[in-house]
Formats: sequence, structure tokens, C-alpha cells
Amino acid sequence: MKTAALFASSCLIAGLFVSAPLSAQETEGENLAAPGAEVTAPTMTAEQATAMAALKAAPVFDGHNDVPFQLRGRFDNQINALDFNDTTGTGETHPAGRVMHTDLARLKTGMVGAQYWSVYVPASLDEPEAVVMTMEQIDVTKRLIARYPETLQLALTADEVESAVREGKIASMIGMEGGHSIGSSLGVLRQMYDLGARYMTLTHSKNTPWADSATDAPQHNGLTDFGRAMIQEMNRIGMQVDLSHVSEKTMMDVLDTAKAPVIFSHSGARAINGHARNVPDSVLARLPENGGVVMVVGLPGFLSEDMRQWYSQRQAEIARLEALYQGQPELVTSRVEKWDAANPDPTATISDMADHIDHIREVAGVEYIGIGGDYDGMPTGPEGMEDVTGYPALFTELARRGYSQVELELIAFHNAMRALREAEKYAASQRGASPIEVLIDRED
Ligand SMILES: [Zn+2]
Repeated sequence: MKTAALFASSCLIAGLFVSAPLSAQETEGENLAAPGAEVTAPTMTAEQATAMAALKAAPVFDGHNDVPFQLRGRFDNQINALDFNDTTGTGETHPAGRVMHTDLARLKTGMVGAQYWSVYVPASLDEPEAVVMTMEQIDVTKRLIARYPETLQLALTADEVESAVREGKIASMIGMEGGHSIGSSLGVLRQMYDLGARYMTLTHSKNTPWADSATDAPQHNGLTDFGRAMIQEMNRIGMQVDLSHVSEKTMMDVLDTAKAPVIFSHSGARAINGHARNVPDSVLARLPENGGVVMVVGLPGFLSEDMRQWYSQRQAEIARLEALYQGQPELVTSRVEKWDAANPDPTATISDMADHIDHIREVAGVEYIGIGGDYDGMPTGPEGMEDVTGYPALFTELARRGYSQVELELIAFHNAMRALREAEKYAASQRGASPIEVLIDRED
């Protein structure tokens, strides 16, 4: 589809939310103390004012948040006593003392208006076990949403996302992270849709029996024939195809097959950070014809190339020390500590994340960028956006780099909405088509 047409349709949607740009002065005014009180309002730069105006008109539609997996890991999905308004006291529920990145108060500060909650389960599980656990993750996500009806609202369609946002609630969608969640069954895929899942990442860190992952040894040369049937069926029912985590060949095979826009729910640009699960330029260049969106990830190891290099050097050093000092684990540990002291880990910054956005804009265009933080799916976000409160700082950095308010609104919300609407539109056009009944061939 043509870029101009996409832009026009996103602007139509934009009309629902766009408010007049706030001037720096107007925005400052909101912070002014009562008359007579000492005025200590923080000053807002023009870039901050642009970012805040954009996010007020078009709040962040984030593609990936792993709170549900935190609920399993920290609370065994027993959440009746959890206060999700404020999770800053959750350090003691994590072995390394980490506090959750997400709660309702911080989502508000971060100006998040719509969230794809990930119902991830480990790719190491056998498929039938993964299916059961995925259903439990969908259940806990729905229970969490139901406990906060004044703040969260389950959204199953683009219209429902928009109406939740209009009411000032956080539209809550469900995404499955990995094809292992459907046990290689189109019947299970359809039932997961009926339970509310609206995207499926084709793989996680390992291959599925029908698609290659970016971080596993190639096994199928991309998609198998069954994998292609999977894409057709996902398009037919309106389940968004998520290409984060899949191999470059799988990305290409999907783009050859897909009839609706793909998403990358949490990915970066490989030209900026060479990690295998980031999106190469060859794929970015094909996004305008497909209409898909790369929702840019906040995970430091996928953002900063320095950090990726540092991590591989550390792994190499550990392997070297283990070979050198076999049977002496304490000596290895003390030498690794010494190495760590001499080689502090490089930090990823807001600027690193903005570099990925700049690059995708250069290669694909601003209509193909979204946001997919991966909060609560990583130890920490980049410096300055360690948790979900960080998005206004990112959008301020983009404004500083010259992005207009309209462009910021596309990146925050409207591009993701367009991809969702297009997927729904294609599914609506297929209502008369029969469900695909192909079974997986375990030999292919
Ligand atoms: Zn992931």
C-alpha cells in the first residue's frame, strides 16, 4: 500500500485526538502554585512542551510489557492482595531485589494510553505445557484488568482502544510472545484469538516446528509450508503477526506471504545494534509496501552496540577463566569480579533509543515506527527511562532532534493503530472464507 494513503488514514484517526499544541507558557501555567505562594514551577523547554502536547493528544500505544510474567514469577499469579497502583515496594519479591517497572501511577506519568500485555511463557517448555501456561497468563492478565476498571479496560478491537483512550483509561490488549503458545495447531490459534489474544510473535528465542528464530540454529530456512498457512490463518482471523525474535529469513518469508501489516512488538534496528533479533535494513525497506510498524524496544543490550560488545567480551572471559581454572569455581568467581571492576558495563541511554528511531525513519519512514518498551521483561530500561515513566523524556529527545508534534503523535500512537485497523480490515474482507484446516507435518 502507498505511503500517502496510509498517512491520510492515520491523519483521519488523528482527528479524534489532536488538540492544539500547547505552548511552553501554557504548559508551565498548569504547574504554577496558588496565588500568593512562592512560585517554584519547573520551567519546561519548548521541546518538552512539544513532547507533552503530542502525548496528551496521542498517548503511547506500547507494543510489549511483561507484567503478566512478573505476576507469575513474583506472586504465582495470586494477585488478589497486590496493589497495582504502586509496585515500587516489590523489591523483596525478586531474587536480585529488582522493583517492578510498571504500575498504574507510573503508566500515567509515562503517558501510556494503550498497552499490549505480553502473555509470554518460556520457549523451553514442551508445547502442550506452553499452551496451558499461556491460558493461565491470559487469565491473570484479564483478572488484573478487571480489578482496576477505573484505570484499565480490556480492548479487543481498534475501536475499543480508541474509546478506552477517549475515556482516559489505559486500553489493555493481549499479545502472545512465541508460536510455542499454540502447540503448532491452527485450532489452538483460533481459540487463543477467542480468548482475547490479538498478536502472536511467531517465535521466541527458539525455533518453533514451523518458523526459525533469530537466536537459534536455522532449521527451516525461514517459514515451513505450515508456517505460511499459519500466516494466512492469522491474517484471516485478524491476529497481528509479530516478527520480533524471528530470523531475517522468517521476516522475509512473512513479508512475501502476509496480506496485512506486520508488527515488531519490541525490536531495534540492526544497523545501530547488530543483535540478530534487531531488524535489518533489507526488512525495514519493505515496510512501506506492507504497512507494518517497528515498535522500538528499550532493552539496553538491543540498543547500545557498546553494551552488546561488552557482554560478549564478558562471556568470553568467563569461558577463558573456566578453561584455565577447572574445578576451582571460587577462583573463577573472584577473577570475574576483578574483570567486572576493571571493565564497567557501558550504559544505554535515551539517545541510543532515539538513534534507532532516527535510523528506521531514514530507511522506512516515520509512518513505520512505534514504541515497544519491553518493561518488566528486562533488568532495567536505558538511563533516564528505567521504568514506564520514561516515555516523555524519549519524546522530548525526539523533539530536540527536530521531530514535529504530528510525527511524535504518529510514533506514539497512530502508526500502531493504523497497523491494527488494517489487520482488522483484511480480516473483515475474509469473513466468507473457510478456516484453514491444514495439519502440521512433523517431518517438514
Ligand atoms: Zn521478547
